[in-house]
Amino acid sequence: MEKQLAVLGKYFGYSEFRQGQSEIISRTLNGEDVLGVMPTGAGKSICYQIPALMLEGTAIVISPLISLMKDQVSGLCQAGVRACLLNSSLSAAGQRDVITRAAAGEFKLLYVAPERLLMDDFADLASRMRISAITVDEAHCVSQWGQDFRPSYLDIPVFVGRLKERPPISAFTATATNRVKGDIAGLLGLRSPYTISTGFDRKNLFFSVLRPKDKMKETEKYLDAHIGKSGIVYCATRRAVEEVCAALCAKGHAATRYHAGLSDAERATNQEDFLYDRKTVMVATNAFGMGIDKSNVGFVIHYNMPKNIESYYQEAGRAGRDGSPADCLLLYSGMDVRTNRFLIMKSIEGNEELTPEIRESLMQKDEELLKAMVWYSTSADCLRERILRYFGEQPPGYCGNCSNCLGNYETVDVSLEARKIISCVYRLRERNRSFGKTVVAQILHGDANQKISGQGLDTLSTYGIMRDTPVRKICGIIEHLVRLGHLYATGGQYPVIELGQSYAEVTRDNKQILMKSVKYAEPLAKPPAKGLAAGDGAAQTAARQTELYERLRALRSRLASEAKIPAFHVFSDATLHAICAMLPTDGEEFLKVPGVGQRKNEMYGAAFTDEVKMHIDADRPQAEKALAEQ
Ligand code: ADP
Ligand code: ZN
Repeated sequence: MEKQLAVLGKYFGYSEFRQGQSEIISRTLNGEDVLGVMPTGAGKSICYQIPALMLEGTAIVISPLISLMKDQVSGLCQAGVRACLLNSSLSAAGQRDVITRAAAGEFKLLYVAPERLLMDDFADLASRMRISAITVDEAHCVSQWGQDFRPSYLDIPVFVGRLKERPPISAFTATATNRVKGDIAGLLGLRSPYTISTGFDRKNLFFSVLRPKDKMKETEKYLDAHIGKSGIVYCATRRAVEEVCAALCAKGHAATRYHAGLSDAERATNQEDFLYDRKTVMVATNAFGMGIDKSNVGFVIHYNMPKNIESYYQEAGRAGRDGSPADCLLLYSGMDVRTNRFLIMKSIEGNEELTPEIRESLMQKDEELLKAMVWYSTSADCLRERILRYFGEQPPGYCGNCSNCLGNYETVDVSLEARKIISCVYRLRERNRSFGKTVVAQILHGDANQKISGQGLDTLSTYGIMRDTPVRKICGIIEHLVRLGHLYATGGQYPVIELGQSYAEVTRDNKQILMKSVKYAEPLAKPPAKGLAAGDGAAQTAARQTELYERLRALRSRLASEAKIPAFHVFSDATLHAICAMLPTDGEEFLKVPGVGQRKNEMYGAAFTDEVKMHIDADRPQAEKALAEQ
């Protein structure tokens, strides 16, 4: 642990691990396989980069996209780590050069695309290299149930099987339902992997679904209210990208575009304009974004509904990676469903790697996933709850940070309903019976089905005492009472409802039970945030901090363009904020700032601490004046 922390500090400039990281690293160092399911921004990369730095030899990282690899390798080199990539973007000579150096053990990490694994030159290299570990990034690509099935991911176990010695394998993904998780472990041949899901919730993201008459107007309205904020507008088709981008530019927004129909050169330029903050709005198809870890994306607008919740959450999740509050808006229309059906069909039929059987089964699966997406888009329930449930979590029914929670919910008093429900469970217990929440709700609602009348449950005194409340709503109240501890749900696949420890507070002490409940189905946009009141002390400090922040940002831009790297590879926004708060004036203090490792301190420490010193000096005359007046 000590050693791991030292490596974390030296290369990445952080002083503690985030949830899950340390355990994953230890297991890998211990030679075990790992399956890590962690949301975007959770810090997956460090989980395999640190073992790579600590183990003898070279770690192989399998990654699906060139942009993703380039980005990672460039970030690592900035941090002083010997990393390299091997793919078709290099010339033949460039590839030979990398192979020679890799064979000589020059790199701690080597990134490759899955298509390369079974090629002769790579197999030859692998046999000459000391492979410390293998990492499979975006591991959901191996599953047909994932949103991004890539047949070449099935080559990975074949490649591993041909190695003389099998190194530990770690697999990572941001989005995986239980089905996909099972596929990853099974298809990649992981050996009793240590599996960790750190939870999917991204608390800083605000989710909203709107059904506007005019999507263009709605988009403009949002952008006008958030000038200067950087964000992505995702569209379903190239044509929509062209139209939306042109319309935004005509209105004076600094927008650019990205889709597969543009030349490589234009795509590269536009992407760079966005990464380097020269353009604030990127209008794009889903071809844009995988592996772009720009940390200061303040919003993601979906102009069209995506084809499934995995894609939606991954794309929307590109907002707010640095932990700052960010907005995820989905503009839904019925037309989007048809567009998606068409796109699904086209992509499956156009994929020549697939056999007819796989095609048929993919088609059915995609239709099922699309249905869940439509369900999300039209739901009046908490949006965050919908997403998290989809990924197998048990979130509360109210998050307070989505358009449905803010617009559609009201607090209702369900004390009376709660007493009725608890007495029903109590009566059932007297008969030594317990049931799942639906049956309990049906009894209360007075339903007359086989299960109920067949077992004489209609003779209970609580039978039918909630005839006016829909079963679904009774179930909701039962779940709420379980969360409050007044009822208890057993574990297992078919949980049954029993009395909770504190049930008597409700039945005997008449405790008031409040619950958030859906009010109406038209979602609202988020109300604008309140500005700071001018003139008060906190606001002045905040203004001074902003001033320094802007100066640091300008410095970062300058250094980044000199080095020809994106600004966030110099430092993330979070690191700049930390500098503003900590005001380091020398290298030693600068090293303590989260996100500053040894190498970055050497490269950028002086420039940033100089800027801080200038900022402090500007304050000095004022402070001296204040002292003199005392
Ligand atoms: P993921 O691949 O899971 O989306 P990344 O690996 O890109 O996430 O990490 C997201 C951000 O979090 C990066 O800026 C990274 O430097 C930062 N980060 C990772 N681990 C830590 C840590 N232990 N402490 C502070 N920041 C961290
Ligand atoms: Zn919510």
